[in-house]
This record gives sequence, C-alpha cells and structure tokens, in this order.
Amino acid sequence: MNVSKRVEKLHPYVPGEQPKDRVYIKLNANENPYPPSKNVAKNVIKFIKNNPEKMGLYPDPDSVKLNEAIAKMLNQSGGVLCNAKVDGKNVFPSDEDKIPFTVTPDMIYSGNGSDEVLSFIFYAFFDSSKKFVMPEFTYSFYPVYAGYYDIPMDLVPLNEDWSLNMEEMVNRAKENKSGIIFANPNAPTAIGIKREQVRKMLESANKDEIFIVDEAYVDFGGESCIPLIKDFDNLIIVRTFSKSLCGAGQRLGYIVANPELIKTVFTVKNCVNHFPIDAISQVSGISACEDVAYYVKTSKLVVQEREKFYDFLIRKGFFVTKSQTNFLFVKHPQISGDVLYKKVKEEGILIRHFATKGIDDFVRITIGTKEQMSKLKNIFEKILAEC
Ligand SMILES: *Cc1c(COP(=O)(O)O)cnc(C)c1O
Repeated sequence: MNVSKRVEKLHPYVPGEQPKDRVYIKLNANENPYPPSKNVAKNVIKFIKNNPEKMGLYPDPDSVKLNEAIAKMLNQSGGVLCNAKVDGKNVFPSDEDKIPFTVTPDMIYSGNGSDEVLSFIFYAFFDSSKKFVMPEFTYSFYPVYAGYYDIPMDLVPLNEDWSLNMEEMVNRAKENKSGIIFANPNAPTAIGIKREQVRKMLESANKDEIFIVDEAYVDFGGESCIPLIKDFDNLIIVRTFSKSLCGAGQRLGYIVANPELIKTVFTVKNCVNHFPIDAISQVSGISACEDVAYYVKTSKLVVQEREKFYDFLIRKGFFVTKSQTNFLFVKHPQISGDVLYKKVKEEGILIRHFATKGIDDFVRITIGTKEQMSKLKNIFEKILAEC
C-alpha cells in the first residue's frame, strides 16, 4: 500500500517494554508504585453506577471542572508535592514553593496525557522555518514530535556532569530566533535546575519565542517554575498525572501558562480532537486533585526510598547522579548498562537501558515500593558478587 511521504519519514517513540511472557516488577517506565487515592476508584464507580447515561454522552470538551481542580491542587501544594506540608486533609506549600499569586483555571489546559499536550504545543508554536532548541539527552518524545511535525532541531550537549548547559541553550535559541524545551528535572539524567536559573534563562531569551519547561518529575524534589508565569508571557509549563499522581493509566496531562497561550492550545485541540479527556478520566482526575494529602505522602515515600537506594548504590561503587525525580540514572564502572539490564531482567525486574550512544553505559531505575527496592538491592548484591 502506498503511504504518505510524511509517514515514510516517521521515527516512532519506543516506550519501556511491557512484556507478556512473565510477570515482572516494572521499574522501567517511571510509573508510580502506589495506586491512586481511594477517592479516585470510589468516585469513578459512583459515576458509572449513578449516571450510566453519561457514558453515552460526550464529555465536557474543555474539562472545566478538572481545570478548576488542578488549579486548586497547585495552589495547595505549591507545585512540589514532596515538600508540601500536611495537616489532616489540608495541604500547605513549603515556604520555598509558595506561588506568589493564585493559579486560576484559565491558566490551565488539560489533555489526554502530557504527551498529547506536548504534541499540541509543538504544533502551535513551531514550524519548519527555524531550529527548535533542546538538550541532546532529554525526554525522547520531543525528537519524535519534531519529526512528526517536520520541525528541525538544534541539540545542545549536556555539561560533563550531565547537567543542562543553560547558557548554550539560550545562545542557540537567540541565534536561531527560536524556542526552547527541556525537562526540569531532566530525564533520564534526573538532575534539576533551580527556578532562579530558569528565570535568568528567560530574562536573556527572546521574549517572543516559546519557552517550555516539562515538570513531569518536579513533585519529587525539583523547583517548580509556576511562580515565573506572571513574569514571562512566553513560559509554558507541562505537567502530568502519570508520575507523582499515580495515574499513568488515566492519561492526564496539563499545561500551566498565561491565559493567552492556553487559548492558542485550545484552538489546536479543537482542530484535532474536540474531546481529548473522556468522562471517566475527568472524574478520576478531579478525584485525585481532591486528595492532595494522599499524594504528598506517596511522593515523600518515593523520595525516601530513592535516597536509601542512592546511598546503597554509592556504597557499592556505582556512579549515580543526584536525583530530584522518581528514578535514578546509574552506571557501574565494570558492568555495562546492557548487561546490568539483562541480569536484572533474568531475576524478574525490569529496569530501563537506552541503546543511545552517549548514555548506553547507564541504566535508569524507577523507584518502587520499599519491598520492590529491597528485592532489587538483593539482585544487585548477587550480580556484584558474581563479577
Ligand atoms: C512521563 C513523561 C511524560 C509523559 O507523560 P504522560 O502524561 O504519561 O504522557 C512527559 N514528559 C516527561 C519528561 C516524562 O518523563
């Protein structure tokens, strides 16, 4: 069958494997090991039971109530769950994370996973006329979308210590008269930059070009850039329910930005998929946001396990970057990333190995429950004893 020239050139995203041959412990896709808040299942069941007719009707195309719930959750938590303070069901931001204004629903756009949201942003703000700046190693979906929309890329190498080369990214964006995207904290390196460093980048960058910060992992100890939105009209922050909100299966992601940018993304959405979030996901998303306290607790648990596993790996002679995420970026001086991945898989746990040149020595390990990490620890002990 003849396919379009466009399709011939596509390079699809390769997700973390989901094998069916046996049951593995999945520490390869940065999913959260904890289930969503009980409030989610309770309200979803109630919704289907009490309003079965709603399953036959189109959902709210603009997810108005969900956007309200997201805005409220951000105001409560300050946008970094693991730092937030809990008093019963009430949640307060830590002093450092307090947002100096109220996030309002018109500053939120929500969609079918942040991957879809990112796709709309790429479509809305970039085209083939200029090179879009991103780190050489970052979320591997960005180059896929760039290919899909025929947007040329300008890849900026990371610093020696795997941190973002902020100055070079801004310089290139100015040269190209183009925008920037990066994840903060970055993936798969796990390293974040500070809000004030992002502010400096924004001050120096072209104010007419979009500046995208993907905060998929910020709830595990990064610094959110939401407080900068009132100062920079070109700043778009992308966030997801898939990691810190235990909701990868719900497919919910969102944008925080000034209302003008939000309107532009709505325009794209209304030309592609008028109803990106189904009725059940809207209920589940709202129910998650209503129980912020639960997710503050699970985020703190993930951070706790991460720090314990980090210490273990360092003691065992691994190189590990200092993580502000729910995963660790790990390399052993003698065992290659590929071998480590295979040996761990034989023992029933999946971790992620990237065959990409430059990071192929590393594995990326998602932080699971205490029990899962203790199993992985034993497997690592065994592998090290054998070599
Ligand atoms: C996981 C991840 C996403 C995708 O999240 P979904 O909402 O599940 O589509 C986006 N950006 C980064 C950096 C991620 O790691």
